[in-house]
Amino acid sequence: MRNRLCKIVATIGPASASPSMLRLIHNAGVDIFRLNMSHGEHDKLTAVFNAIREIERDTGTPLAIFADLQGPKIRTGVFPGGSITLRYGAEYMLVHAKESNDENVIAIPHSELLDVLEPGDILKLDDGKLQVTVTERNAKHIIAKADTPGELKNRKGINVPGRRLPISALTEKDRADLQFALDLGVDYIALSFVQQPHDVREARELINGRAGIISKIEKPSAVEQIDEIIDLSDAVMVARGDLGVECAAEDVPILQRKIIRGCRSAGKPVIVATHMLESMVESIAPTRAEASDVSNAVYQGADAVMLSAETAVGRHPPSAVAIMDRIIAATERDEGSEGFKDVAREDEIYTTADAITLSARRIAEVLDCRFAVAYTKTGSTAKRLSRDRPHCPVIAATPEARVARELALYWGVNPVVTEDISHFHEMIEKADALAKASGGADGDRIITIAGYPFGRRGKTNTLKISRIGSME
Ligand code: PEP
Repeated sequence: MRNRLCKIVATIGPASASPSMLRLIHNAGVDIFRLNMSHGEHDKLTAVFNAIREIERDTGTPLAIFADLQGPKIRTGVFPGGSITLRYGAEYMLVHAKESNDENVIAIPHSELLDVLEPGDILKLDDGKLQVTVTERNAKHIIAKADTPGELKNRKGINVPGRRLPISALTEKDRADLQFALDLGVDYIALSFVQQPHDVREARELINGRAGIISKIEKPSAVEQIDEIIDLSDAVMVARGDLGVECAAEDVPILQRKIIRGCRSAGKPVIVATHMLESMVESIAPTRAEASDVSNAVYQGADAVMLSAETAVGRHPPSAVAIMDRIIAATERDEGSEGFKDVAREDEIYTTADAITLSARRIAEVLDCRFAVAYTKTGSTAKRLSRDRPHCPVIAATPEARVARELALYWGVNPVVTEDISHFHEMIEKADALAKASGGADGDRIITIAGYPFGRRGKTNTLKISRIGSME
């Protein structure tokens, strides 16, 4: 069991794809593995997937894996010689084409973008490193002026801040990748460039219950409809890389807080992503600002924090994970960190299960319980407990491997796959054994919640306080 409650996501890439490196980063603290479908061939991703499942078998720790679809990322076409040099103030023609043979022409293979551009629109190129502004549009062409000088290479990203594009969140490539990932058996699908609630609904229809949905928030239009998108999603990612290109840098921390607050109040897990320990792509230690960034995400109540290039292509993947692990644990030990344990919707109790989990949280605090053990068939009891941020780790005992993996993303939840219990005595005995296997000792107080009659779905109605090694 980890000595922290907030989870760590690692993006897998050339620096971490080997079975031995996957094992090292898991040992260092990775709970959730991200397969980036923008890079990597299907056979390589299959090998990574199988290696992670092998670690899971060997360690007995359920691990979540998610496939992050590329989404409708708009890119430039191909230039003569591989790039053109933008000159400050010079004008360029934007044309619908896969490639151009003229250094004053920027080929864009996406007519949907060209159809909506108007004078005044800003195009951020190559993750915002370069910028052009549309100055003219007529029946024949679109002209844009370079606001920044620099080299624009083939197939670099284009963002048009503030413009909602008439495109689906799933491209043809995404649909093929989605089918592949679902056949592989991933636990979650991450949707890139969600623009509106409809994008999530469309994906959910295709996924048809075979995996959870993580909506990546990286467009201002998604932020505008954030509450509905959160409600439709199983989890949310604050994708600060593209969000920071689409919005002003100073807006990103504010949006991060807003999205985390929205997720906490809806009881949905939220991942804070990108550039968290970016300098560790090269360096062996993070900057102080990066340590603060991870810590702040924990203080704000994130369920998970994510490493991208640090583990995908960095020089020190295990060190990056180990340092992230230490920063989270230190923040959670801080006496003043109780803010991140604020309950979601404390005032709204709808069901018996809500009342039980909320009470469990309070009892765990008052009696200083070592663990809360939740017997859960569908995962919903453990999810509710996580939402209420109890003051001790949750051990989620489920007979379903799929549910256990899904729960790996949730704050404070340590899933265990185990057979259903059939009577009250067994409920306590098994809770004792699970707590001991997780580091508990005789005499430690635990709180156990379950649904009686046992083995049914969605019937949480029982709460027992006991000490390990004793039925009382
Ligand atoms: C991001 O933009 O922050 C992000 C996580 O997405 P990607 O890495 O796919 O660009």
